[in-house]
Amino acid sequence: MIDFTVSEADQKILEQIIAEGRAGEKYTRYYEDNEDEILPEKFAEADDFPSLLKQFATRSPEDTPAATFQMLVIMYRNITAGVTLRQGRGALGNAALSAAGTAEQKAKWGNTILAMSITEPGAGSDTKAITSTAKQDGDEWILNGDKIFVTTGIRCEGVVVWATTDKNLGRAGIKSFVVMKDTPGFDILRKEKKLGIRNSDTAAYSFRDCRIPKENVLGYQPDATANKKAADDGYKGVLKTFNMTRPGVAAGGVGNALGAFKFGSEALADEGIEVDWEAGVHHRTAVQDKLIEIEADNEAAKLSVLRAAWLADKGLSNNVEASISKAKGGEVCRTGPQRIMDLLGGMSVSHDHLVEKFMRDGRISDIYEGTGQIQRLIIARNILELSSAELS
Ligand SMILES: Cc1cc2nc3c(=O)[nH]c(=O)nc-3n(C[C@H](O)[C@H](O)[C@H](O)COP(=O)(O)OP(=O)(O)OC[C@H]3O[C@@H](n4cnc5c(N)ncnc54)[C@H](O)[C@@H]3O)c2cc1C
Repeated sequence: MIDFTVSEADQKILEQIIAEGRAGEKYTRYYEDNEDEILPEKFAEADDFPSLLKQFATRSPEDTPAATFQMLVIMYRNITAGVTLRQGRGALGNAALSAAGTAEQKAKWGNTILAMSITEPGAGSDTKAITSTAKQDGDEWILNGDKIFVTTGIRCEGVVVWATTDKNLGRAGIKSFVVMKDTPGFDILRKEKKLGIRNSDTAAYSFRDCRIPKENVLGYQPDATANKKAADDGYKGVLKTFNMTRPGVAAGGVGNALGAFKFGSEALADEGIEVDWEAGVHHRTAVQDKLIEIEADNEAAKLSVLRAAWLADKGLSNNVEASISKAKGGEVCRTGPQRIMDLLGGMSVSHDHLVEKFMRDGRISDIYEGTGQIQRLIIARNILELSSAELS
């Protein structure tokens, strides 16, 4: 039976995440206003808290299942507006490596921060439209093309890049390549300035006759036939990572919505405005009704994220549930903070409060890792049993 009970030990970890977030809030405005600066590896306040990684390592099978708990961790990180006190060493490319890399590749790059670079100026939602090319030349691949919107693109040490080996093959021609930052021909063009998630560095790249060893194709096998199959499996493996990264992005967006709700309901409570659960529908005010509606939508989105993760924990397919959670999470992160701002009025846009940050930060969760529209397409294809060629 489905069960989202959080163990006592895990609840303590989640509370620590909130406390760390609050401790990071004093730095938030500075890094919002100085977007060009990268967060330090560690803030002094991090030493006031026991290492989360060490606490994660002590979790037992009796605690909350791993993927479900991971979603809660992401959500709780976003409930406060604080900067992260200790920067992690993982990025999206690391998820691709764990899903599709060989044992040798995992041993080689497992501890390397790897970004993920798919999007191009002419290819976003439609990933098969990518034009970056990979041409084999003896023992090397030669990469050429331009990439945009690479999360962690400045801070990373390497990147998993999608390029086509044959445009005529469409998706089947696309492979993933690991490229290290110091490789000749690989350049960072710029760091993007953004509406929200300003603490997250987003880069644009160019690849010009960038040569990498043939072993850097994700899933590489020395034997040519096995290598082709492994690289194809590698591509499919990378696609599968979306089944966990989509709920993860949704979890972040839900966290933003929950954070805005918490800020708004506390600010209203300070003015004596609180939901009177005893009053009944005919006696509640319009503001109380709105708070109930926002909370219910946030809760529904949260549950859809936990459901997608719980299926993964059980080893069950979660393709459609991952998209449902992303669509739902994307919706509440856009609308939840805005609806709270409607209730708060002027203070909601003031620099003196951090509530406007939830609105700006939340917006992206409905865009990257597949927009809300694309998630709805995936859900529709599943319900109608249509292929991507039949419904696009
Ligand atoms: C801050 C940030 C970080 C990012 N990080 C990464 C990253 O790390 N790696 C990476 O590879 N990419 C990254 N991206 C890119 C992101 O995944 C794309 O922006 C996203 O997939 C949408 O692509 P697009 O911007 O080209 O929009 P488009 O695909 O051009 O879409 C424009 C609009 O049309 C809609 N649309 C498109 N096709 C359809 C359709 N078939 N049916 C209905 N509606 C449709 C979309 O929903 C959207 O509303 C990032 C983007 C941003 C802004």
